[in-house]
Amino acid sequence: MENFIVSARKYRPDSFQTVVAQASITNTLKNAIKSNQLAHAYLFCGPRGVGKTTCARIFAKTINCTNLTDDTEACNTCESCTSFNSSRSFNIHELDAASNNSVDDIRNLTDQVRVPPQMGKYSVYIIDEVHMLSSQAFNAFLKTLEEPPKHAIFILATTEKHKIIPTILSRCQIFDFNRIGVADISEHLEYVAKSESVEVEGEGLNIIAQKADGAMRDALSIFDQIVSFSGKKITYQDVITNLNVLDYDYYFRLVDEFLKNNVTEVMVIFNDILNHGFDGHHFITGLSSHFRDLLVCKDPVTIQLLEVGGDIKERYRAQAAATESDFLLDAMQIANTCDMQYKTSQNKRLLIELALIRIAQLTLKKNS
Ligand SMILES: [Zn+2]
Repeated sequence: MENFIVSARKYRPDSFQTVVAQASITNTLKNAIKSNQLAHAYLFCGPRGVGKTTCARIFAKTINCTNLTDDTEACNTCESCTSFNSSRSFNIHELDAASNNSVDDIRNLTDQVRVPPQMGKYSVYIIDEVHMLSSQAFNAFLKTLEEPPKHAIFILATTEKHKIIPTILSRCQIFDFNRIGVADISEHLEYVAKSESVEVEGEGLNIIAQKADGAMRDALSIFDQIVSFSGKKITYQDVITNLNVLDYDYYFRLVDEFLKNNVTEVMVIFNDILNHGFDGHHFITGLSSHFRDLLVCKDPVTIQLLEVGGDIKERYRAQAAATESDFLLDAMQIANTCDMQYKTSQNKRLLIELALIRIAQLTLKKNS
């Protein structure tokens, strides 16, 4: 593959505008810059891969830009911006506290903090995974945080806010980053695919987004993995084969057969799933989620909890319309019990089959 740059790096946002799904945070930061009300310390909290470090870098670039746009974005042409964009700016310092968490590491950093920047207004210190600092290192850092020099701005990032001591918390302006939703991730992947002239089926993107579980970085690396495997034309089938995801078509078919009380066909489908090498436990938890997804589709208020997009949403809506809430609740209950008993069961296959038979008989009374 010609010059394939890892998408997570190539498509890292370089302006507030292009950060995905964190608008309230980027707007607040932009307003602070615009009104010249910068804090000396920020704490960026949230799950991994949602843009904390990216936002910190954009922030550092923007406050040092000498020619801000009307929209409070970095100009990307001034000397400061170009040095930022080619990673040779001296105004930004990054410390990964996961691997540099000793008192000495922090002392090195605080020694640097005193030196004013040669160029630009601010020196920005990003401390990633700040909760990993040793308690001594924390204390050493606290002194600097209490009386920071004018030019210094600290951005602390963490996935575990509860591990940050109160004395640090109280000195920081805190931003909570959201997990990124499946729809937002899909949309961004679609944009990346288009830019790389990769053709992908929408349902495939959806699966990647679900698998990434809220982290854009993971979504992009899964995307890369599939491109290197399947080339520039990616189908839904390619994605589920590559990620070893059970085709949700199975779940739709199963529900159709449950409603027809067709135990035989249900058993055949389940056998087919096992023959494809899928794990029974994985299957039963997936089935529970499918019932749950159908249930949220029954109410216009909860339908937004359904984390799928496009054509497949229609399919959920149609199947939800064909089922009764009572059936879904009972079926969820049975699947959930099966899930809980799975680990300790001596005959796992039978356990699941029993559950499936019971679900297939739920509507019997009504139908007869
Ligand atoms: Zn600039």
